[in-house]
Amino acid sequence: MLIVKKFGGSSVANKERIFNVANRCIEEYRKGNKVVVVLSAMGDTTDDMIAMANDINPDAPKREMDMLLACGEQTSVSLMAMAMASLGVPAISLNAFQVSMHTTSKYSNARFKRIDTERISHELESGRIVIVTGFQGINKYDDITTLGRGGSDTTAVALAAALRADACEIYTDVEGVYTADPRVVPNAKKIKEITYDEMLELATLGAKVLHNRSVELAKKYGVQLVVRSSLNKAEGTVVKEVTKVESMLVSGVAVDKNAARIALIGLRNEPGIAFKVFDVLAKKNINVDVILQSIGRDDTKDISFTVDEDQAKEAVSVLKENQERLTIQKIIEEENVAKLSIVGAGMQSNAGVAAKMFEALYDVGVNIRMIATSEIRITVLINLEDVDLATKAVHDKFIED
Ligand code: ADP
Ligand code: ASP
Ligand code: MG
Repeated sequence: MLIVKKFGGSSVANKERIFNVANRCIEEYRKGNKVVVVLSAMGDTTDDMIAMANDINPDAPKREMDMLLACGEQTSVSLMAMAMASLGVPAISLNAFQVSMHTTSKYSNARFKRIDTERISHELESGRIVIVTGFQGINKYDDITTLGRGGSDTTAVALAAALRADACEIYTDVEGVYTADPRVVPNAKKIKEITYDEMLELATLGAKVLHNRSVELAKKYGVQLVVRSSLNKAEGTVVKEVTKVESMLVSGVAVDKNAARIALIGLRNEPGIAFKVFDVLAKKNINVDVILQSIGRDDTKDISFTVDEDQAKEAVSVLKENQERLTIQKIIEEENVAKLSIVGAGMQSNAGVAAKMFEALYDVGVNIRMIATSEIRITVLINLEDVDLATKAVHDKFIED
């Protein structure tokens, strides 16, 4: 069997954890399997490096940010290879350049285009455990790129697809995918199996247990994923196309605190205005999520929408540049908001799900600012300060013990 095993930052945070991972991988290797290990940067390394960069230059060039952040993963893979060598097992660490993991050019948010498997296959054939840096790639300029925060999951899935691995296991600091973040909702339940589509929604809407792009790739290439703990052997969560169990009404609750709300006031109420507003944003690659349009005074309209917090500044500045053409009287930006979502394939055929969610929020006195729905999710925008209370209330309404 060829197995890809990915370990997140907290799973390799110190010497003891590194040896724990080394031993788990060696166990697999000794069974006669080929083992490819993907690692993230140790502990809070990536956050610490971002803070260092901000201290030098808060507006640092993205190319240089990627150059810096890629160092974190290089530290962990080399230390892991040393740990395995000390345990008498042949292992080799490789970075994105050495493997040749090609991505698009977009620094800090690159996507895989092609992965060469030759070097890894050769090393595996020579009887080595191969340890690969997560999160990084190279672009057409031979520059280092990164895949966005949490991107090591995507490296693992992309490698599993390219190598046609028999298994892809994501090891983390919780025992699997839960019905809500178990750190916020202590009675959240571990999900045994979840579909790609539901997992993709949860990941996109804020459940950072898997990078959303990794789920997208897993679905595209049919890579079955297992999410489980690096610290114990409890059975984890399987992410796959179709689950055996009938879909729950709501499979999970996700929270995205990284949202900002932008309100445009007093636009002319005529055809084409919304198109022009969102076209300006789309041209800057700004992702818009929840949108609300309402009638204002004197035949005007207001449009509010959410974007990721880190794109809010750019969104406001491009709207200001075009303020006159877009007939906007006033632009308001607000960052103290969060998106709370419920996700579940069972929602499509069940009336009353939205009402039940809104009732849960009413019960705890939380005001809903905006609402968006799709076939398998309902998202509300609420004030940031309400988020933990609201998450628990909504979770408990839908997920029984
Ligand atoms: P890693 O460093 O292993 O990649 P992450 O911190 O990226 O780990 O992701 C794991 C964390 O995701 C957990 O510690 C947990 O707090 C958080 N999380 C958020 N939503 C969920 C969920 N629905 N199920 C499990 N974990 C979740
Ligand atoms: N080290 C990177 C991050 O912190 C990638 C990852 O952990 O997946 O975002
Ligand atoms: Mg992660």
